[in-house]
Amino acid sequence: MEICSVVHTIRLCAACYAEQPHHRTHWQYKATAYCEPHGLALLSRCPCCKASFPIPAEWGAGICLRCGKAFADLAEFQKQVVKL
Ligand SMILES: [Zn+2]
Ligand SMILES: [Zn+2]
Repeated sequence: MEICSVVHTIRLCAACYAEQPHHRTHWQYKATAYCEPHGLALLSRCPCCKASFPIPAEWGAGICLRCGKAFADLAEFQKQVVKL
């Protein structure tokens, strides 16, 4: 993977995370504008407290480290960009 093809802010589809709680590598590709299975815009920061997401290695608890919001609960903040 080329360095220039990935974004450096950690991105997240909360709807995917709710189904299987782990980070997906393709969320970091610049070419990935939204989550295809859900048609939802990816989050690049916590919509509650605006904190950047920690690196996936620190996602053990699956919550925002600043405000404690569960990643799985953030799906309601994702914009529907493609009608499924
Ligand atoms: Zn998704
Ligand atoms: Zn937060």
